[in-house]
Amino acid sequence: MPVARVLRPAFARLRFLRSVWRRWFLWVLLAILVLALLVTVVWLAGRHEVEQTQTVLDRDTADAVSDLRDGLQRNVQTLRASLAGGADREQWETRAAGLLRDHREWLRLEWRDPALRPLAAVDSPYRRRVFSDNERGPDQMDVELACSTARKLGAPAYSPSHYVAALQGSGLEVLELCVPVEGGGYLVAAYSLRDTLTELLAPMLSRGQEVAFTEADGTRLVAIGAPRRIGTRVFTSQQLIDLPGVTLMLRIDGWRAVPDLFPNMLTALVTAISIALVSVLVLLARDTRRRLRAERDLADALAFRKAMEDSVITGLRARDLQGRITYVNPAFCEMVGFSAEELMHSDVEVPYWPTELAHEYQRRQAVRLAGATPPREGFESVFMRKDGSRFPVLIFEAPLINAQGSQTGWMSAFIDISEQRRIEELSRASQERLQASARLATVGEMASLLSHELTQPLAAIASYASGSLNLLSADGAPQAGEHQEVAMAVRRIAEQADRAGQVIRSVHDFVRRRDRTRESVTPQALVDAVLPLVRLQARKLGVRVELAFEDHLPAVVCDRTLVEQVLLNLARNGMQAMDMPELSERVLRLRVVRASGSPGPDARRWLEFSVADVGCGISDEVASRLFTPFFTTRPDGMGLGLSLCRTVVEQHGGVLMHEPQRPRGTIFRFTLATAS
Ligand code: ADP
Repeated sequence: MPVARVLRPAFARLRFLRSVWRRWFLWVLLAILVLALLVTVVWLAGRHEVEQTQTVLDRDTADAVSDLRDGLQRNVQTLRASLAGGADREQWETRAAGLLRDHREWLRLEWRDPALRPLAAVDSPYRRRVFSDNERGPDQMDVELACSTARKLGAPAYSPSHYVAALQGSGLEVLELCVPVEGGGYLVAAYSLRDTLTELLAPMLSRGQEVAFTEADGTRLVAIGAPRRIGTRVFTSQQLIDLPGVTLMLRIDGWRAVPDLFPNMLTALVTAISIALVSVLVLLARDTRRRLRAERDLADALAFRKAMEDSVITGLRARDLQGRITYVNPAFCEMVGFSAEELMHSDVEVPYWPTELAHEYQRRQAVRLAGATPPREGFESVFMRKDGSRFPVLIFEAPLINAQGSQTGWMSAFIDISEQRRIEELSRASQERLQASARLATVGEMASLLSHELTQPLAAIASYASGSLNLLSADGAPQAGEHQEVAMAVRRIAEQADRAGQVIRSVHDFVRRRDRTRESVTPQALVDAVLPLVRLQARKLGVRVELAFEDHLPAVVCDRTLVEQVLLNLARNGMQAMDMPELSERVLRLRVVRASGSPGPDARRWLEFSVADVGCGISDEVASRLFTPFFTTRPDGMGLGLSLCRTVVEQHGGVLMHEPQRPRGTIFRFTLATAS
């Protein structure tokens, strides 16, 4: 196990390296190939240029050799022509002098007899005499060699080149030409090798290059032309000149600038293209890197968005402009119990619409698709789960705008509000139960008042009944006057019984639970309903109840049971606040007027109910906790009255407030909306 733990990071690192290598491998390969291509192309271009230069040089050399041969051949003919027409010695000398003037390459022309003895000799007028006559005897070796070869061949022949020393250490490389002539004898011409090059070759040839005669073994004999420049490369071409009796080598050394990286246009072009290629490659690599980074960022953003969509508990759904579902998030699928595929590919009907409401929803969708703006605060609807159960949802809709700013559909958010509804229902039920308990508590308090109130009619009934009995139990039939008295007593009994019944009915009406429906009731009727009960307590506490109604008040819309309870609570609290021995004048004033301004932004009209007492008033400390449930200052109080009053008034859209009354006491006011 520890080994595995040690190896795990190593493996992870290996995997990472492999992925990096795989990503970069192709790029590295491409770069190497491009580099190899570049180097090869540059090298090939350089080599091509070298080859071309060499070819040109070889061609020049071949041309030069051919020029030399032609020149030498022409010279032989010219030489032969000097003896044309059987010229005598003098004539020949004149002709020879003329020839020497035209041919600078000749140093000396000689006419020799068959034994090689000189008959006549003329030297070139262009230079100091190189030969002395006694050096040029019959046994002069080079001439002898040339002439013996000529004799053998029966044609002109040359001697190998030899050095002839001249004055002050200078000297010349000389080549002898021996031409056999008709009638025996020879014409011998001494060629200066250097001048042969200068005269017989085109002067262009020695420009920028060196032209030389060498021995077959490479020994340089003479050379003309430019010396080698520094920083140049030597191109050499040599060719044999096979003359009868001697073999010479013509060698041309050409100096060319070293072919550098840009030897010519082709290479430059190729290099430029290659550089462009490499640049493109670099840019491509950078672009790819940027793309990879963007891709990674995009993937991160997508993953984040997906995580967000998956984790929200709000259902999300997108529809296109034709009403087809294009997207749902997992929360929505969970809410309705259908999978995303089922929702998006059901082209028949929306599967989560309750069948009984589908028609209405279709109409609503048509209105929406026609471009109607949905309410910002959302709207409630009922959806159906896959198992057929219904549940309430709160829907918020908004147009779906794409990046170009045009609408592509609708986006909706759904909140399942069934739990909220359940809690609301629970709190409503407990509120109702509380109110019922509060009413019962009020009734409990009133039981004693009731018994007191009922004693009067009951006592009256009892006394009328006993009086009647007395009259009836007298001897004989009752007299006419007595008859009337009995009738009156029975009427009184009936009246008192009716009164007692009314008292009991009013309490019963109040306690009985009625349907919680809002109805239109006049303020007068509301006050009248609680008045008997208020008067019950008022009588006991010695309170005078005053009523004041503005003229022609409109009806209010309310749950009358609850509003009556509010009125009764406020009146009772007021009377209890005046239950002080020192208070001589106890007045409870109930007023209903039109409210001056509306408390809300809506346009409804309001009535204001106020209950004013002249009791103990409310201290700041009590005021701060007045509406807290179960807050009471009375030993037998429950502390629920005012908190329930406020809930009821606010449920009706009104407000409940209180303020001190001058010179003493408190006024409680609340507002209710009128039916209009
Ligand atoms: P309860 O009447 O059961 O005490 P309420 O919620 O009706 O409960 O009243 C709470 C408290 O507010 C009362 O105990 C009393 O101290 C005070 N109170 C209510 N109305 C008045 C009033 N008109 N004048 C003075 N104090 C009042």
